[in-house]
Amino acid sequence: MQQRQVSSFLVDFWEKSIETIDEKKLKELQLERLNYSIEIAKKSEFYGQKLKDIKKIKNFDELEKIPFTTKEDLLQNNPLSFLTTDLKNIVRVHSSSGTTGRSKYIFYTKKDIENWADLVARCLFMVGIRKNDIFQNMMSYGLFTGGLGLHYGAEKIGILVIPAGVGNTEKQIELMRELKTTVIHITPSYLLYIAHYIEEIGLSPSEDFNLKTAIVGAEPYSENTRKKLENIFKINVYNCYGLSEMNGPGVAFECPYKDGLHLWEDNYYMEIIDPKTGKILGENEEGELVLTTLKREGMPLIRYRTGDLTKILRERCECGRTHRKIMRIKGRSDDMFIVKGVNIFPSQIEAVIMEFPEVDKNYQIIIDRKGGLDILTVQVEIKKEFFKGEINELRDLQERIKEKLKEKIFVSPIVELVETGTLPTTTGKAKRVIDKRRL
Ligand code: ADP
Ligand code: ZN
Repeated sequence: MQQRQVSSFLVDFWEKSIETIDEKKLKELQLERLNYSIEIAKKSEFYGQKLKDIKKIKNFDELEKIPFTTKEDLLQNNPLSFLTTDLKNIVRVHSSSGTTGRSKYIFYTKKDIENWADLVARCLFMVGIRKNDIFQNMMSYGLFTGGLGLHYGAEKIGILVIPAGVGNTEKQIELMRELKTTVIHITPSYLLYIAHYIEEIGLSPSEDFNLKTAIVGAEPYSENTRKKLENIFKINVYNCYGLSEMNGPGVAFECPYKDGLHLWEDNYYMEIIDPKTGKILGENEEGELVLTTLKREGMPLIRYRTGDLTKILRERCECGRTHRKIMRIKGRSDDMFIVKGVNIFPSQIEAVIMEFPEVDKNYQIIIDRKGGLDILTVQVEIKKEFFKGEINELRDLQERIKEKLKEKIFVSPIVELVETGTLPTTTGKAKRVIDKRRL
């Protein structure tokens, strides 16, 4: 009886602006759902073998004996071997965007789709999005989860959704102006590009639009980039995290306090592990995020290694929500590159360069090797207003960026300043790093 009350309370969660489930109840619910997930997973060919000796779990410590599921597992096995039910019960398939290699396929039952939409709705509601908003979804529709995922969640709240998809910037701007868009969902790199485009055509990002909120995710970006975007558009920018393997966007989302992302612990069990040893780490310790689906029926994933690096924040949020927060994703373990023996993430470089007011919105990192030595080059776009003649005159700025980078990443890079509009742009996920050593 007790359990049922908790569950029905959770179904309505997104309708409440404050999700405050008692911690003890949340733990009970998680344990119950973990066992559900393990049992249902055993019905699939893949987990049937893997979990056959796992009995009912009585406390979270026992999880350690369950093996991780990896991206490799998804890529190397028949996609259908993860299904727990007949294909006739599956209503949708998505696949990852394939940023790193082949695609993984994720299957959803009708209930899975509904549950995902509930979660996304909960996220949107949390940041004040309501029925009278006009939502332009500037993410790719199709196999990528960013389009349909947000679309269904927004419809659940009853917002007018403009399924704009990605690209065709001129049309996007026309839609935003004509339909008075108040909320957009977009990647950080595309939003930076749009800001530039709007200025180029002589409009003001902050005055010629009705925007109030941008939901920005799908790739890592720094706090400085958020601030830059908020200043350019005079809007609130909220970070949205997700991955197709865990449905898609809406796994974790920032609340109005913008200090970490609440991860919906009633739907995902989270662990942080040391990516090298697999050892479980504590709160406030940085490592790889491992997630277990707690409610998915068509294709549960148990202890899935996301490859994303973050930490669970120990401090509880002032907003009152009890779902714990994770830190903004630092990068993926496979994003990381090693230059002269030092581990570097693109996000570290981005955080440094975006602090400079002269720096515009685009940058690129190139790694090469000459005579056995690694060479790191950071190309940075500079706003036209900061130089009159040749960009080469900005020696002082170049030197300051170089010094700041060196302080942060412990490697001295070559910094190349280029004019705005020089570097390649993208409307999907940005490819910031070109490692010529691998070519
Ligand atoms: P792919 O792995 O092919 O890119 P997805 O399209 O499912 O597949 O992308 C999910 C990944 O995108 C996450 O694992 C994470 O690395 C990245 N990602 C998504 N949202 C964010 C975010 N808000 N911040 C940082 N990285 C993110
Ligand atoms: Zn909060």
